[in-house]
Amino acid sequence: MHPNGNPIPVLGIRELRRFLRKVRIDDFDGCWEWQGRRDRQGYGLFTLKTVAKSKPFAHRIAYALTRYGLPSEMWVLHLCDNPGCVNPMHLMAGSRDDNERHKRIRETRVGHTYVRYAVSVETGARIWRDYQRGETIGALGEHYGYSRQIIARLIRRLEG
Ligand SMILES: [Zn+2]
Repeated sequence: MHPNGNPIPVLGIRELRRFLRKVRIDDFDGCWEWQGRRDRQGYGLFTLKTVAKSKPFAHRIAYALTRYGLPSEMWVLHLCDNPGCVNPMHLMAGSRDDNERHKRIRETRVGHTYVRYAVSVETGARIWRDYQRGETIGALGEHYGYSRQIIARLIRRLEG
């Protein structure tokens, strides 16, 4: 998600407690659902009481809390593809290009309606990295357990 112009604050202990009360953690490795306000796309917003009118994205705060801060120009991407998730393990910082690549991975679908995406964003990013390092489509398919057709479609989209 793009930086929305609101600076990522250093949370005091009170704000931190308030932040954590808005997170529902059912499973440590699963998504942590934001229970507070969201924007129209489903991204969590945290209203800061200490800074008037500041509503940074909840996942950007979660990222910054666990990774020694966050440069304001960096995007924070959801590897789990769930905009309401604030699990730091599901978040990675990236550039606008990385975000664009993730969008293209998501758009590479298989023909069955019950499968949302052919490849998860996380796996897609790994496949792309390995392809850049010179892995063949056949080897990638075997390694990641996808047909050559899906790998080829994904690579074609990413090369765009
Ligand atoms: Zn998640």
